Amino acid sequence: QPLKPIEVLEAAADRFRFQCQQKNIDFHLSLKEDLPRIYAARDQIDQVLDNLLSNAVKYTPEGHSVSLSARQKADGFVEVAISDTGIGIPQKDLERIFERFYRVDKARSRSMGGTGLGLAIAREIVQAHGGTIRMESRYREGTTVRITLPPCEPEVTSS
Ligand code: ATP
Ligand code: MG
Repeated sequence: QPLKPIEVLEAAADRFRFQCQQKNIDFHLSLKEDLPRIYAARDQIDQVLDNLLSNAVKYTPEGHSVSLSARQKADGFVEVAISDTGIGIPQKDLERIFERFYRVDKARSRSMGGTGLGLAIAREIVQAHGGTIRMESRYREGTTVRITLPPCEPEVTSS
């Protein structure tokens, strides 16, 4: 169904603010006004956002920051970016990160919990919606995940 990105993103931010406070992570929300509506399954988009935000919080140490932002790109797609100033991902792991069960550091990952499925599921959902997902990261500096989702087509009037 058509969704208003602002509503979806503000709700996601509300689910993570408390976790960030608990971990002394600064949380920034920056949403452009009048984003176009997207045609998407709300529960699936929530699942994607929760996966990406939980990664950002999980892999970012205390005293650092996480941000969630959204804008409309020139091609009309809505772009949502989740950024952190956390531990980052080494270049050599970056291309495999969306594979099922792939995790960067086995010892570290075991202590963090999780299965290594979050990103694989996120990519499946985003692609099923006609969107894209990309990850940029610098080891020990931070990570940004960008997803794009197509806007609703202008409504066709039927007679
Ligand atoms: P799950 O999401 O199933 O609970 P997970 O978080 O380990 O487990 P993914 O979300 O698929 O699995 O992420 C895969 C791996 O990518 C992680 O184990 C971690 O090594 C790395 N990773 C993901 N997001 C970040 C991030 N924001 N910063 C640093 N590393 C990350
Ligand atoms: Mg995860």
